Amino acid sequence: MLQVGKVSEGMQVRLCMNCAAPIIVPANSRKIYCSPRCANIAAQRRFRQRKRASDPEWARAELERLLRWRAQHRKNQTGKAVNP
Ligand SMILES: [Zn+2]
Repeated sequence: MLQVGKVSEGMQVRLCMNCAAPIIVPANSRKIYCSPRCANIAAQRRFRQRKRASDPEWARAELERLLRWRAQHRKNQTGKAVNP
């Protein structure tokens, strides 16, 4: 097993599966994320990937949603620049 620095007995260094931050966990722990936030992000990504693969209709809707959001965002930005 990988031995890094002064990790105490029964502990293990892993890299967060989302942001690759090193985390120290008990060797028998199933923890693979540094924080609930990273776990959430990864879960969401997994969900989207699965959805996208199994549901082309949903993938298209998601793309449209993204494009609409971007268009709106761009409009807001230019709007701010144009206003006095
Ligand atoms: Zn992380």
